[in-house]
Amino acid sequence: MTSDHFQDSCGVFGIFAPGHDVARLTFFGLYALQHRGQESAGIAVADEGQITVVKDMGLLSQVFDEQILASLSGQAAIGHVRYSTTGSTQWANSQPLVRSRNGDSIALGHNGNLVNTSELRDELIAQGVAFVSATDTEVITALIAHHAAGDLVSSVREAVSRIRGAFSATVLTGKKVVGFRDPFGVRPLCLGTFEGNHVVASETCALDIIGAEFVREIEPGEIVYADGDGLHSLRVELEGARPAMCIFEFIYFARPDSIMYGRTLADCRFEMGRHLAREAPVAADFVIPVPDTGISAAIGYSRESGIPYTEGLMKNRYVYRTFIQPDQHLRELGIRMKLNPMRSVIEGKRLVVVDDSIVRGNTTSKLVDMLFGAGAAEVHLRISSPPIMFPCYYGIDMATRAELIAASKSIDEVRAHVGATSLHYLTLDGLQASTGLPRSQFCRACFDGDYPIAVPEELAMCKMRFEKGAENCIP
Ligand code: SF4
Repeated sequence: MTSDHFQDSCGVFGIFAPGHDVARLTFFGLYALQHRGQESAGIAVADEGQITVVKDMGLLSQVFDEQILASLSGQAAIGHVRYSTTGSTQWANSQPLVRSRNGDSIALGHNGNLVNTSELRDELIAQGVAFVSATDTEVITALIAHHAAGDLVSSVREAVSRIRGAFSATVLTGKKVVGFRDPFGVRPLCLGTFEGNHVVASETCALDIIGAEFVREIEPGEIVYADGDGLHSLRVELEGARPAMCIFEFIYFARPDSIMYGRTLADCRFEMGRHLAREAPVAADFVIPVPDTGISAAIGYSRESGIPYTEGLMKNRYVYRTFIQPDQHLRELGIRMKLNPMRSVIEGKRLVVVDDSIVRGNTTSKLVDMLFGAGAAEVHLRISSPPIMFPCYYGIDMATRAELIAASKSIDEVRAHVGATSLHYLTLDGLQASTGLPRSQFCRACFDGDYPIAVPEELAMCKMRFEKGAENCIP
């Protein structure tokens, strides 16, 4: 992935495990989910009914240290890593959010994006509920906290039936950990066991890191909760809902070692590369990936085409957000902060360069420029997803339609813009076949405009019109 504006929204984790160091387990679960958000991180712990939250801006390792983790003891915990999709980058928007409910507290962490935030927010404000942020997460938290039902699970069920959009979330109370997923299952959420205790997480890689066993994915519309009596599950049915997992989780967002719909994502990406090689063959000396997310597809392309695979771009592994801003000179170097071409490999060679997607095209042109600058004879770009034509309303910070280069340019115009020798995208049929799963299981709206969850007109108009900026576009 070379785009500079294409981020997943968040990673969530929750564990109910009395007698264990739940804060530390949550820290390591989040550590495996850091790729899903680098803007802020937080952990909430419940100890004998009392909730304590520590959260701040930055990477997990910038927010937590030994001393903080040692101070967070309890029986259950949830955690969150965030990349903002609604609400600006500020501390008040970091999660878990905490709110009082019937004299107790609840904490909530959310991944996704609602499409009816403003309607619900207005309704709650009319009932006298106060808000401190512009996030949809605060609306979900407030809906649960201010619901009249005495028990938490009824309040969660009512909230799940009222909110629309993409949401996978964890909730912590003094005595329970709850995980729930929207009726379309757009964002992932899975269930695991840890020494007889229960864990929920955005991806299976977060279970692996703590030695938990993957049990199953949480079903679309399912609410699970763990407490002193074990694990419980219930469903919210929504008319017209169908499974619609974000297909970009398969292409890029989720870690390749995670399992979704029973498939290891590295295997699917490998198949994407093989399909791409069959759809768009070319004579070349090497196949090189754009690391890290292009690696599996590049290996697949190489295997299918017989062209040797090699590393040609070295990634700085530590480029996650830092509080230190680059100065003007470094900013101009842009992509070199992340990737450095290996001249000894590249010089005089015809390259197939495999990346997972092109969003705006600016970073891709810098990449191509850099490869030619390092002496490449030809740069054949092969993209393991179809052209992105439509914006995402379900929690992926991609771009507005006006910013998506493929929405207004033909493939050859994109090729000319980025300066590549040739350019091919994987077809939508090729992508679907690579997942090994039927089309009916996925959201593919950013490729085909077929949005599984209705998008209110004002929100759609907003994204069509505006530059990026959720403040202008609260759904
Ligand atoms: Fe994923 Fe695209 Fe659907 Fe958004 S529109 S949820 S990025 S497939």
